[in-house]
Amino acid sequence: MSSLKDLANSQADMVVNEMGGGSLLSDSQTALLYVVAGVLFILALRGLSSPDSSRRGNMFGMIGMGIAVVTTLLQLDASSGLTWGLIIAGLAIGGAIGAVIARRIAMTDMPQLVAAFHSLVGLAAVLVAWAAFFVPEAFHIGTFGNIKTLSMVEMSIGVAIGAITFSGSIIAFAKLQGIMSGAPIILPARHFINGALALAIVVGIVMLCTDASNQTVTVFLIVTLLSFIIGFLIIVPIGGADMPVVVSMLNSYSGWAAAGIGFTLHNMALIITGSLVGSSGAILSYIMCKGMNRSFISVILGGFGGDTSAGSGEVETRPVKQGSAEDAAFIMKNARHVIIVPGYGMAVAQAQHALKEMADKLKEEGVKVSYAIHPVAGRMPGHMNVLLAEASVPYDEVFELEDINSSFSTADVAFVIGANDVTNPAAKTDPQSPIFGMPVLDVEKAATVLFVKRSMGAGYAGVENELFFRDNTMMLFSDAKKMVENIIKSL
Ligand code: NDP
Repeated sequence: MSSLKDLANSQADMVVNEMGGGSLLSDSQTALLYVVAGVLFILALRGLSSPDSSRRGNMFGMIGMGIAVVTTLLQLDASSGLTWGLIIAGLAIGGAIGAVIARRIAMTDMPQLVAAFHSLVGLAAVLVAWAAFFVPEAFHIGTFGNIKTLSMVEMSIGVAIGAITFSGSIIAFAKLQGIMSGAPIILPARHFINGALALAIVVGIVMLCTDASNQTVTVFLIVTLLSFIIGFLIIVPIGGADMPVVVSMLNSYSGWAAAGIGFTLHNMALIITGSLVGSSGAILSYIMCKGMNRSFISVILGGFGGDTSAGSGEVETRPVKQGSAEDAAFIMKNARHVIIVPGYGMAVAQAQHALKEMADKLKEEGVKVSYAIHPVAGRMPGHMNVLLAEASVPYDEVFELEDINSSFSTADVAFVIGANDVTNPAAKTDPQSPIFGMPVLDVEKAATVLFVKRSMGAGYAGVENELFFRDNTMMLFSDAKKMVENIIKSL
């Protein structure tokens, strides 16, 4: 117990001592500013937990990050060889690339962008750890081949998590971007291979940390390379409906990797921020697993969603009931309660503004309108909430799955716009289905179900939706935005 305390004290002393040399701020000013930034980050997370406080939350986050960055820049130690010119050039190049990407990226491509950015955090952790390994003097953590034990522990764990985050995020990016198949790729004996690799990484880390004579480039390189490989192998077998959890899990890893960099650089703000991202990402992954009725371990073990039950290859020939915008307008105008279920297709078509206009028209006719949001609708957590908020849909009309599911049985119309998997009853009835166990919106319980989509095509999980053939379903084949605009005209 006392040795743990000594360890913690020496680490705290180290963090405080190393902050300051050559800096424009005193140690206590720096520590205070970092604490202020940390508090702002916590307020940001709190604000982001609800749509009506999310703008404020974002603002807190931006101010906190601004304070953290400026405080860190004011630490500039001229003796380190780093100049303002280099820093400004780095900020300008990175900032310009980030700004161009952020302006160009479509909302629907956000998950792969997030995955790509996570990979950069992982790579940064690896590069910082390697820099510290080669020039430990610059980080005041010992000399080459004789790095302090505690620093070696931080660096080797940091390099491993960073490398796993990097390669895992690259695979997630490739899958979400469609460069690689989204289906799980199952390697024979993968659990054995992963177990052996994990063991080898642990042995390498123990070797580096327990005996300075093992602090060679070869051992550090082996730990790094094996971590790259295991990151790749962990994500490759994950597919189908589990991808959202992977994105949030990688978000968590990138946070821990950043915290690892924080320890190496003795930067308290990075340690705080990394830990916040790491823990909130882990909590989000847990919530999403619960939302999809999947255990976290089974997601990580992968292999789910490979063989789709509807993937028999046979072309479906059963008839479906088709309708027009006029039919839909007539049915909805005469309804008492319409529940709108948005999904990925609404995002693709950017139909949210037209949808809000349609809802306003229905409300003028005395129809009650609600929105039902599934936790994994779209392609990223909160995707639908963001789009509806952008179109100024009132928050009190928007309901989470568990709050609205029981209302479908009394609703007259379920207006499903660009959603598919999140309504598929196979999740409740077909144990072979890749989405089995995921809670779904019970749209079929509404008197009439209107499906707006362009074809009979499947959704993300590649599974056919039995609801299209039901008697109370009417298919409205069209681009989502065009269909809603035509419904507005008819209304
Ligand atoms: P789905 O992917 O199941 O279905 C979307 C439907 O939208 C498709 O069937 C498609 O049919 C239709 N569509 C596409 N473009 C248009 C358009 N322009 N106009 C009208 N319709 C269109 O979406 P859901 O939101 O129901 O489900 C999300 C799925 O994505 C789940 O399987 C989830 O696990 C997965 N996922 C979710 C993530 C998240 O974090 N939320 C991240 C990654 C994956 P058609 O081609 O016939 O038009």
